[in-house]
Amino acid sequence: MFEKKSTLRTAVIGIDIGGTKIAYAVSDAAGHLYCESQRPTDATDSVENDMQRIVAEVQSLRERARDTHGLSISAVGVAAPGPLDATRGVLLRAVNIPSWTRFPVRDFLQTATGLPVFLANDADAAVLAEWQWGAARGAQHAIYLTMSTGVGAGLVLNGAPYAGVAGNAGELGHTVLDWQGELCGCGRRGCLEAYVGGANLGRRLRAIASKSSRVCQLAGARDAISAKHLVAAAKEGDAFALEEMERFNDFLAKGLANFVFTFAPEVIVLGTIPTAAGEALCFEPLRAKTRARVWAELADSFRIVPSALGDRRGPLSGACVALQGISELSVTRHAKE
Ligand SMILES: [Zn+2]
Repeated sequence: MFEKKSTLRTAVIGIDIGGTKIAYAVSDAAGHLYCESQRPTDATDSVENDMQRIVAEVQSLRERARDTHGLSISAVGVAAPGPLDATRGVLLRAVNIPSWTRFPVRDFLQTATGLPVFLANDADAAVLAEWQWGAARGAQHAIYLTMSTGVGAGLVLNGAPYAGVAGNAGELGHTVLDWQGELCGCGRRGCLEAYVGGANLGRRLRAIASKSSRVCQLAGARDAISAKHLVAAAKEGDAFALEEMERFNDFLAKGLANFVFTFAPEVIVLGTIPTAAGEALCFEPLRAKTRARVWAELADSFRIVPSALGDRRGPLSGACVALQGISELSVTRHAKE
């Protein structure tokens, strides 16, 4: 048995916890994925029971990785929506899952699986994945921005992940565009997230879209309208949807221009809504609007590109957290040099 074990190649398990589903995969150090799976989050009143289901999936993946691919799992990385304490591996609060409050995810999973476990904010983890294997590959200074529910961001600066005090850097969604502006989910006014975050955008559309509008037709009912219906209607050329996309691009460009002045990134990678909307509806106008808002000397210094990882982003994000945790990523070695 011990002889067999010595021939196994090392890999990690990446887990991406979302509000509705949890994505899992086994990844080697080069980001090749094996044994991908997806399970509904199905959060209950018992966080222990919910975590126990994650443990069962980890054990099953571990066996499949060994038996099917000859891979030995050396760590587990978990990407989760914040706020969380990455250093202590504690999930502080999960949106829409009240029972998952102040839960020591790392220690629980570590004890139950016997594997080293690492926890990180999903946007911080996603920038690592885009930087290692996606659209920010090779960049020294990169920003990843996601806007599915809220607006999350991850930063790579001077060739290393940038976390700030207690890992709280990169809350770019709450940088303010207008102190008198629209109310944000965080309680303040005029945050970028109040204009381009998926939840706020959906709320706006449900309030202003008429019952006969294409977005409402696509959603089936007014209270079912979300950002995806806006993107779908805009792709059909619907005038209201195009106007709303224009507004979205306008506010996002204001935020991006601020980030260009603050970080001077080489590349800004955008996931979710912009990636779904694509070049003509989002990226082309967004680049033009952002360039128009920064100094001419900076206008060609950055790229704005869609996420390149597709459905693999979640599990690869988790895998990056694990690989960084066990210092197998070159990025970590570089950062220590
Ligand atoms: Zn805010």
